[in-house]
Amino acid sequence: MPQHDVVVVGAGLAGMRAALEALDQGVDVAIISKVHPVRSHSAAAQGGINAAMGQEEGDNWEVHAFDTVKGSDYLGDQDAIELLCQEAGEHIIEMEHMGVIFNRDEEGYLARRGFGGASYARTFFVADITGQAMLHVLYEQVLKHHQIKVYEEWFVTSLIMEDGRCAGVVALELLTGRLYPIRAKAVILATGGLGRVYEPSTNGLVCSGDGISLAYRAGAPVMDMEMVQYHPTTLKESGFLMSEAARGEGAYLTNSGGERFMQRYAPNKVELAARDVVSRAEQTEIDEGRGIDGCVLLDSRHLGKELIHSRLHQEYDIAMTYLGIDMVEQPVPVRPGVHYIMGGIKTDVDGAMNIAGLYAAGECACVSVHGGNRLGANSLLDTLVFGKRSGRHAADYAKSTPPAGESEAVITPDEGQIKALFERADNGERAPLLRTEMGRMMDEHVGIFREKKALAQAVDKLKEYRERFQRASLHDKGKVYNTDLMFVLEMGFLLDCADTIAASALAREESRGAHYRTDFPKRDDESWLKHTLCYYTPDGPRMDYLPVTITQWPPAERTY
Ligand SMILES: Cc1cc2nc3c(=O)[nH]c(=O)nc-3n(C[C@H](O)[C@H](O)[C@H](O)COP(=O)(O)OP(=O)(O)OC[C@H]3O[C@@H](n4cnc5c(N)ncnc54)[C@H](O)[C@@H]3O)c2cc1C
Repeated sequence: MPQHDVVVVGAGLAGMRAALEALDQGVDVAIISKVHPVRSHSAAAQGGINAAMGQEEGDNWEVHAFDTVKGSDYLGDQDAIELLCQEAGEHIIEMEHMGVIFNRDEEGYLARRGFGGASYARTFFVADITGQAMLHVLYEQVLKHHQIKVYEEWFVTSLIMEDGRCAGVVALELLTGRLYPIRAKAVILATGGLGRVYEPSTNGLVCSGDGISLAYRAGAPVMDMEMVQYHPTTLKESGFLMSEAARGEGAYLTNSGGERFMQRYAPNKVELAARDVVSRAEQTEIDEGRGIDGCVLLDSRHLGKELIHSRLHQEYDIAMTYLGIDMVEQPVPVRPGVHYIMGGIKTDVDGAMNIAGLYAAGECACVSVHGGNRLGANSLLDTLVFGKRSGRHAADYAKSTPPAGESEAVITPDEGQIKALFERADNGERAPLLRTEMGRMMDEHVGIFREKKALAQAVDKLKEYRERFQRASLHDKGKVYNTDLMFVLEMGFLLDCADTIAASALAREESRGAHYRTDFPKRDDESWLKHTLCYYTPDGPRMDYLPVTITQWPPAERTY
């Protein structure tokens, strides 16, 4: 049976950064990933990564921290935000030294672009393929240290819990269809986001909230799950992301009358207001009849061919390939679409949670640095800062912990569940169809604008989907690379995540950050300056609350 000191679930930026740090601390490390590491969703990150390193007079980590606190609509924990911004610079330099070729300006300094909600241009980038560049470099580092065992294309189905602590994972080898226990003294969940709870979404199909659900089922609270980010510029029809990089370089948003409507909603920051503000403004324009076919327009024509081809070439390709639109000549129809979860597994700044031996980092975790709304380019930073910290602390914990038990019986429940799935007769209920139906329902009922009746309907609908899910059957009964089976297992994770999102959105009776209640349109600091927590119970999520940590920025009105 495989045994390791630290097992990291996830080979995105957070997972690989955590693994490299744990290795540096001198312990035996393994990474498990359901896709090849460089196919993790981090590869899709386009726009960049934030850090204030004194590159511009007036900018420093404290201004970055304040922008982040304000962006979070004062729901982010300020002690964690301070750490994020203080440690940012060293991570950019470290990535550069590892081999990430960031863009440079005419004078040879690292180039920067402005991003939403930021007081200064402090987003570093590699054209519009920043995540891909960083992910490949981290994977090279993992390969270089060939002591790290990588279980590529292994799917974690559950956590091994013994004596109240996490003692490893149960994983399905996708190549053979066999289940194995993989024992560890410490497990770090770095499984990324849950964007596929919604349809459409900018997220890859693999972003199904697996780790969030695994931790939740094991008894960890998930925090601020109502905080779902709609990105302002996703492509018409497909919902693919058109990165904030375009607006960062100066692109406009216009309505059917050719008006730069953001001037009305956010006179100071215009298109570069925080994402929740821009998404709501766009949806209002569309709802009030000033859209074009359910979209607004992203106009970059004035940026010129050379800039578009050199710094926005991926966006150019996306618009050309999927809509046949040449960004140099024509504006591109875009609309808000689900992009990111600010909430997640509640951890401290070292990735630790309420279960011994279990850690989380990256998008699946809620430290919380993003609160009610994440600023663009703060997420890549989050993966590195808290990935590294969780790697160090999990390694320390592993050093002082005796080896876990050796029983193979831990795989029995999952084996039973999968066997039952293979034996279930086809009754017409299919997980992929259910998944799409649920995603559309979530977009409609738990979307940009929310209210009590629709949210309560969503909670009921989710109960119905869960019942139908119990009947879902497999078409593919093979053992080798059974993606049909993977979809069913993912659907179980997605349902847990959707339950907690709907329950938290129903509970929070105010509007803050990405969570906008038309029946409670004001922020209410007196009653709601607090985090929502959900605990698993067989009858659905149990709600609890936690105070927000305020260090130096008392809540103030938020305008852009
Ligand atoms: C299109 C797009 C563009 C973005 N652009 C930016 C940007 O410019 N700047 C920015 O700051 N942020 C951006 N973001 C957000 C940012 O990219 C993500 O939040 C971040 O990359 C998440 O990294 P991660 O390491 O937490 O997870 P991921 O990179 O998603 O990796 C998750 C890993 O977990 C593994 N995994 C999941 N479940 C299982 C399981 N059951 N068993 C085994 N393995 C499992 C996967 O295989 C994968 O390796 C963007 C996001 C998207 C979708």
